[in-house]
Amino acid sequence: MRILISGASISGPVLAYWLTRRGFEVTIVERAPALRKTGGHAVDLFRPSMEISEKMGVLPKIEAHATGTDTLTLYREGVQRPARIDLTKIVGATSDRHVEIMRDDLSEAFYDAGRDQVEYLFGDSITAISPAGAVTFESAAPRRFDVVVGADGLHSNVRRLIFGEDSGRTRFLGGYLAVLSVPKMLAREGEMTVHVGAGRLAGIYTAQPLDDARALFLFRSKEELQYHYRDVLRQHELLREAFAGMDPKVDGWVAELDRTPTFYFDSITQLQMDSWSRGRVTLVGDAGYCPGPAVGGSTSLSVLGAYVLAGELAQAGGDYERAFAAYEREMGEPVRRSRAFARGVAMSIVPQSRAGVWAMTRAAQLVSALPAGLTKAVAKLNTKGARLHDSMQFKEYSAPVAG
Ligand SMILES: Cc1cc2nc3c(=O)[nH]c(=O)nc-3n(C[C@H](O)[C@H](O)[C@H](O)COP(=O)(O)OP(=O)(O)OC[C@H]3O[C@@H](n4cnc5c(N)ncnc54)[C@H](O)[C@@H]3O)c2cc1C
Repeated sequence: MRILISGASISGPVLAYWLTRRGFEVTIVERAPALRKTGGHAVDLFRPSMEISEKMGVLPKIEAHATGTDTLTLYREGVQRPARIDLTKIVGATSDRHVEIMRDDLSEAFYDAGRDQVEYLFGDSITAISPAGAVTFESAAPRRFDVVVGADGLHSNVRRLIFGEDSGRTRFLGGYLAVLSVPKMLAREGEMTVHVGAGRLAGIYTAQPLDDARALFLFRSKEELQYHYRDVLRQHELLREAFAGMDPKVDGWVAELDRTPTFYFDSITQLQMDSWSRGRVTLVGDAGYCPGPAVGGSTSLSVLGAYVLAGELAQAGGDYERAFAAYEREMGEPVRRSRAFARGVAMSIVPQSRAGVWAMTRAAQLVSALPAGLTKAVAKLNTKGARLHDSMQFKEYSAPVAG
């Protein structure tokens, strides 16, 4: 049975690994000319995705590439003295098994795990998928596949082709997110420095494997802003306006907009499709159920979704209708809970007022000051909130594994 996956970031290579292990023939088409090596941004793996990575034999590699950010230095707007927060305690309270890693390092680890069994078509994109599985590409010759999976991110091409332009029901979560590459000397290794004020937050971090640092900006907006997604200059202008006068250091990061080779700007938007499969096509990871970039543990959810989809396809003996229904059933609860979690994070990560800034800092200081065992014990009582991602369960699939 031949399966085509669009997208070679996180969910694509994980899905491909498990499908080939279970005897399917897999091709991945990726728009980028090669596996992305710009670093991306720091992402999180929690317990279920750590366990899936362990089963894939890539956990040591992932742990070796952990960012190692363990301190948060928090400056509140208008307050001179920063608060120092022990991030290991905060993360320890939310997860027993967690690693933070740059997205492109994670992608490479998953890619390496399965590359010998998978056919990769880089620098190409799907242009059409017929109900019978005939696929046309921008460059490659047309081919037929039994199943097509969109693993091509929040702005998924496969989703647009199958469900139409406005198919992905989305919900704006009231904020914007920007990331740019800045010189490494502006950040300190092992530390994230954050400036926070009412309605806006700017941070900087680097990591040992990176040649540069990442400046990250989050700001609130009641309404969706007017700009075209390709109009980078307008996005620069919006970012400058949102962070004007925050702090001279933040001004320095924003000034890098004129030089940066890597810039990302997007609304914090949640995908809310009720079903992400149609005919022989389905979606995985951010393409199908992104709870919101940077707010909902979406990387962990993507790994989990890819593992479950491969398991269900194998268990159904390739009967994709049965497999997709089972996949959506299995992922329904984690997706719903991640969406609710992300909406909460989106409301609280950038405080609305000075009082909110104060309360957020106090809460972080408190967790940081308590003994790790105590914060963990308190957090464990709440599996809908802080411990949500660790508490997600996944099935062991007994379907045959190819030799
Ligand atoms: C700025 C930012 C910060 C984030 N921070 C965090 C965080 O702190 N923690 C966390 O867990 N997650 C975070 N995320 C989310 C995380 O990056 C995603 O959840 C994760 O990468 C999803 O993986 P994916 O493989 O489903 O999609 P993606 O990583 O989006 O990959 C999609 C792939 O599809 C390819 N593609 C796109 N279009 C086409 C096409 N037409 N044809 C072929 N290929 C195509 C792309 O090139 C890419 O390789 C953040 C995201 C962003 C944008």
